[in-house]
Amino acid sequence: MMLPAAPAPQTAPKTAPPAGRPAGKAPAKSPAQKALDKLGLRRDIDLALHLPLRYEDETRIVRLIDARDGEVVQIEGEVTHSEILIRSRRQLLVTVDDGSDTCLLRFLNFYPSHQKTLSVGARVRVRGELRGGFLGREMMHPHFKLAGGELPGALTPVYPTSAGLPQVYLRKAVLSGLARADLSETIPAPLLSKNMPQRLSTLREALQFLHHPTPDAALQTLEDRSHPAWQRLKVEELLAQQLSQLQARRVRAAMRAPALRGSAVRGSQGSLQMKLLERLPFQLTAAQLRVGAEIKADLQKDIPMHRLLQGDVGSGKTVVAALAAARCIDAGWQCALMAPTEILAEQHFRKLLSWLEPLGIKTAWLTGSQKTKERREMLALIESGEAGLVIGTHAVIQDKVVFKNLALAIIDEQHRFGVAQRLALRSKMTDGGEEPHLLMMTATPIPRTLAMSYYADLDVSTLDELPPGRTAIVTKVVSDARRDEVIARIQAQIAEGRQIYWVCPLIEESESIDLVNATQTHQALSEALPDVLVGLLHSRMPPAEKKAVMSLFVDGVMAVLVSTTVIEVGVDVPNASLMVIEHAERFGLSQLHQLRGRVGRGAAASACVLLYSTGDAPRLGEVARARLKAMVETNDGFEIARRDLEIRGPGEFLGARQSGAPLLRFADLQTDAALLAWAREVAPVMLDQHAELAERHVLRWLGGKAEFLKA
Ligand code: ADP
Ligand code: MG
Repeated sequence: MMLPAAPAPQTAPKTAPPAGRPAGKAPAKSPAQKALDKLGLRRDIDLALHLPLRYEDETRIVRLIDARDGEVVQIEGEVTHSEILIRSRRQLLVTVDDGSDTCLLRFLNFYPSHQKTLSVGARVRVRGELRGGFLGREMMHPHFKLAGGELPGALTPVYPTSAGLPQVYLRKAVLSGLARADLSETIPAPLLSKNMPQRLSTLREALQFLHHPTPDAALQTLEDRSHPAWQRLKVEELLAQQLSQLQARRVRAAMRAPALRGSAVRGSQGSLQMKLLERLPFQLTAAQLRVGAEIKADLQKDIPMHRLLQGDVGSGKTVVAALAAARCIDAGWQCALMAPTEILAEQHFRKLLSWLEPLGIKTAWLTGSQKTKERREMLALIESGEAGLVIGTHAVIQDKVVFKNLALAIIDEQHRFGVAQRLALRSKMTDGGEEPHLLMMTATPIPRTLAMSYYADLDVSTLDELPPGRTAIVTKVVSDARRDEVIARIQAQIAEGRQIYWVCPLIEESESIDLVNATQTHQALSEALPDVLVGLLHSRMPPAEKKAVMSLFVDGVMAVLVSTTVIEVGVDVPNASLMVIEHAERFGLSQLHQLRGRVGRGAAASACVLLYSTGDAPRLGEVARARLKAMVETNDGFEIARRDLEIRGPGEFLGARQSGAPLLRFADLQTDAALLAWAREVAPVMLDQHAELAERHVLRWLGGKAEFLKA
């Protein structure tokens, strides 16, 4: 195992086991503790860094006459009236008079204790949102208590929480974590002030302030996180992220990988790649040649490659992967290619088999749905080293799969895999002390700001050119009401011998949403197009059936393929020239772009029709409209990614699972670009000159999560 063990928690729990319980056996955790764990709040420092979402102001009592409707206020007054009203349902109505005006408190759910505290004559302190009601001003379900007692000196923090974790419990836990945590500085003062426009407070001051801001604090700057205390936290967070990326890069640079140079098997240098190039029915594009050279240079080194190959759908990533595989196998090592779906893995298998088998390369095939006997044969081929290339789905990373000498792992559509899966593939190398080279491929390009921040430990190659002879795809947005016209268009395409994809949203979508699902659409299209074969493909079908349907479409026997998004990634049928996406308003932007990439792969002019339906709403929502508009306006995957980022924001764009990088909680890559620049500059200095502080900083912020960054 080449991965360093997860770091130990910064502060080990010191609680002694309670008397009467055998030592060494941890006391059972309460539901609230479990909820804390779930939020990742295990160490004191985690609690201290769990910052409020917003604040409530309980420091002041407002006179009713001075308060506006819609404001959340705290008032104090005397109960002048209390009654239980039975209308459609029982409710408690209480009138409070604060001397300037009166306010009605309305409770739809209440206990006898409510009535008791709020009895006529009592002086009470009440907090809630003021509304103008039919009977004058009122508050619905306000917080209340008997008047008296001191007003708190600080704003009351409201923390992000989850079900089963009451705010009061969380608040106490956070405050005691804050009191116990080690908050000593990890960033040397000269570095902290380097190119920093404002003087930042210490971490301790910043945290103390954010957990208990004084009432005079400008709530606005706290809530929009522009307050200097927030700046300090963002700086810390960004630095931790940059440090961990840089550490990962250095750890990797210190690791060893097989240098894949020349031919071990067949004497003459690079013969397999040359033979493959000669056999290809096309010339490589300039971009493919450039990227191929970048990968070749990496593979020749004895440092593990960690490269992302990004290229728009149809840019020809597969052949680049095949060339890398050929180089690896030529040098006498094994290569694994993992794809996220069975359909895609199967397609790669067919294509690479046709390219590589004539060169004498044996290829093994692994999927989850394989028969035991076949699987056993494959496993034997892989273990003996007879199979130079292994292609498959997640099945490739199962424990039973043992490679003889894996040197190159290729992951297609890498964003579909989780970090753990990427790590698992890399750990498939059995030779001690070495790591395989890793090539990840994606059609969802990473925008520059994200690349700088989240993927600092990644070399990026870009295919910025499509193979020649492609015609641009024309995209149209069409209302569902005009389905008939779309069907007429399909008939015209069929008459020209073309094939059509018709994509529907997922079949397992909740029944409450009235989606026209793939099955119904399939039936309707079959009836409308009686002379041709209309197929259906969805994720619930058994793999063998999927395979059969897909082959009919690939071979051109089937004219129309109705499918769910199982065809989203990688499927390559150049004769398909029209894609219809039903309920396009429900798909994400990058998904729409991926789907559209299934057409426009041959020489024929291609089109994509985005059918939308507004359901009961008078028109499409703003976000859906922005997505469809982007699709019509551009075919460029980079521009699509940029707009997607704009529409969704980086958090969602990445998704924790995809990136593996813990998402930034406090900093925002757009608004805090200057702080990111600072962190990028300071991180290498910290690592070189203050290694111990750097280590503490990363541990404090990322704890055990730092490991994930290395995937
Ligand atoms: P993607 O980058 O989306 O994975 P593929 O590798 O599937 O793209 O390539 C798309 C299609 O273009 C395939 O049919 C492939 O054979 C073809 N292709 C790849 N490179 C070239 C090229 N240089 N010239 C012509 N066709 C090419
Ligand atoms: Mg592909």
